[in-house]
Amino acid sequence: MATQSPAPRRADLLFRNATVVDGTGAARRSADVAVTGDRIVAVGDCAGIAADHTVDCSGRVLAPGFIDAHTHDDGYLLVHRDMTPKVSQGITTVVTGNCGISVAPLLSGAPPQPLDLLGPAALFRFDTFAQWLDALRAAPANVNVVPLLGHSTLRVRAMPELDRPANDAEIAAMRAEVRLAMEAGAFGVSTGTFYPPAAAATEAEIIAVCDPVRTHGGLYSTHLRDETDAIVPSIEEALRIGRALDCPVVFSHHKVAGKRNHGRSAETLGLLAEAARLQPLCLDCHPYPATSTMLRLDRVRQSTRTLITWSTGYPAAGGRDFHELMQELGLDEEALLARLRPAAAIYFIMDERDVARIAQFPLTMFGSDGLPFDPRPHPRQWGTFPRILARMVREEQLLTLEAAIHKMSGLAAQQYGLQDRGRIAPGAFADLVLFDAQRVQDRATFEDPLQLSTGIDGVWVNGAQVWQPSAQAGDAAGSALPAFSGRVLRRVATDHTVTTTPS
Ligand SMILES: [Zn+2]
Repeated sequence: MATQSPAPRRADLLFRNATVVDGTGAARRSADVAVTGDRIVAVGDCAGIAADHTVDCSGRVLAPGFIDAHTHDDGYLLVHRDMTPKVSQGITTVVTGNCGISVAPLLSGAPPQPLDLLGPAALFRFDTFAQWLDALRAAPANVNVVPLLGHSTLRVRAMPELDRPANDAEIAAMRAEVRLAMEAGAFGVSTGTFYPPAAAATEAEIIAVCDPVRTHGGLYSTHLRDETDAIVPSIEEALRIGRALDCPVVFSHHKVAGKRNHGRSAETLGLLAEAARLQPLCLDCHPYPATSTMLRLDRVRQSTRTLITWSTGYPAAGGRDFHELMQELGLDEEALLARLRPAAAIYFIMDERDVARIAQFPLTMFGSDGLPFDPRPHPRQWGTFPRILARMVREEQLLTLEAAIHKMSGLAAQQYGLQDRGRIAPGAFADLVLFDAQRVQDRATFEDPLQLSTGIDGVWVNGAQVWQPSAQAGDAAGSALPAFSGRVLRRVATDHTVTTTPS
């Protein structure tokens, strides 16, 4: 095998004898990978290259660092710079600000639900989006950041009451914030019309507020208005918004929720495949049939089981089943909701076959959607990527290893416009994960969610190592290293190439 560029004689770091899965979807191959500074400098037979450090990768897979396409890590990045829940999974880049909620720009001592899912009120201390980006750059974390601006955050900032559409002055104020954020480096805007702060926002309001997304070549990401019975009109609304803004649409955590909608992913994916012939779009999802967000009764009623993760009104409810609590306290649904809130919960709301079908869809990326400050989070915050590799690839063979890695890296880099990321090739940034495909395993569960995965043997971000396995044989875990080599990334406007063959 030949290197693809003139081979250097020395490198900082050399990965020898790796099974390289390069992120493009191409078949795995045996190769060495040389890194100097923050870039990959050679891929192939690097026997002639002397290196300061050599990593023997025999029997293991070297892949591009995983891109977590959907997170709520905006505030967590600032106070837990090691990013252990993420780097321990092989994640090297996180997309923030999803579902309409971003930590900036907002000064608030008591942000309303669901903004509080982002963490303590003290995090809402940035009057501009640029100030938050500056804070990330001044004290970088162990992962790269792809920042989105949240429309609900803008509404909380601009509107005295949230249960109505924005008026012209409020729209103008929010549009000015979108323009500033896009100039500062936002990749686009997210909405969450499912949630109270934005439920009254009309399609016209969103299009007017997001206008600078069009002129700045950004993208539009959305937690749909309804993921249950009205899923189809909700998808159609998002597609219209994307066309009006002439920008790609990211469908967040795609799902069909509620028992009577189980199986309908065949219909929604058909609709999305058709639409993808005409306009750019992509999806993200995670590999669990349960979701998690603020406590609300519509979700409780659609779920087969609801687990409280935290409750300010009744802290002892953390970890308890909603229906068991109703019995125990002798309260009906409304009375229990009133007793618990503010609170958050995990909802068992999807069908495994829908989860599998959505994961297999060619335009689907993977995103953990975890809530990092939740004391008993959904296990997706710590387990998403190893679970895909262990369960969907190794055990159930729903995806080939090459296809799964492509969704975790190359596809996401392409969809978000990340230049020289998401693939192993000379010239690309050295965001890398080394893992054992036979041994990789998530250990976070609904009962015990704060558990490190096994089988992730090393993670590098911009050439610097951020995760190492435990030195002790038999010890499952590893530890984060204080490299803090993550960067705030910049979007490269894509040419809006429409994918014509989402088979
Ligand atoms: Zn969401």
